Amino acid sequence: MQRTWSAGPGRLSVREGDITRLTVDAVVNAANSRLAGGGGVDGAIHRAAGIDRLQAACREIIREIGSLPPGEAVITPGFGLPARHIIHTVGPIWRGGANSEPELLGNAYRNSLALAHRHDIQTLAFPAISCGVYGYPVEDAARIALTVLKEGIEAGLVIEAVMVLHGEAAYDTWSRIAEDIL
Ligand code: ADP
Repeated sequence: MQRTWSAGPGRLSVREGDITRLTVDAVVNAANSRLAGGGGVDGAIHRAAGIDRLQAACREIIREIGSLPPGEAVITPGFGLPARHIIHTVGPIWRGGANSEPELLGNAYRNSLALAHRHDIQTLAFPAISCGVYGYPVEDAARIALTVLKEGIEAGLVIEAVMVLHGEAAYDTWSRIAEDIL
């Protein structure tokens, strides 16, 4: 299942599936601030990329920067993934919505797009950042994500962004909101 909308010179797609299987220039990982790997999409990306090589690359970054604050993004190779690169970003943990969650979630998407642009990445796939264990209300997250992606594509930062949703219910929600925004 996939739907695609045009946005300025590029396009934005919403599809159902497993982000680790996508052949795109880069996939975005919903990481934690220690880049330590974990459950959810982060665990799936680590397993598919190859845990040892990806963990070594992440440890090297953490040695340099200490930790990755919410809203920021860094890049590693994709190793065993079909994607050439992984952009690791950290979404906010939902604490009721009055703790800068919307701004930090927007920054996670914005900074991932900006980093992709600096690395000549033209096709970029995102998971639903913060919508798993971090507890962000899905409809609110979808509005923020799709608005930021639309603006970034219109500005020419990437040619195509793909939101990859795990499960049909999530896909239905995101494609309804995309229909509204795009
Ligand atoms: P966070 O800690 O940012 O909330 P999670 O990994 O817990 O991140 O969840 C983020 C979203 O990723 C959830 O909506 C979850 O259903 C989804 N997800 C989990 N595995 C995959 C996968 N292989 N491909 C795409 N999305 C996935």
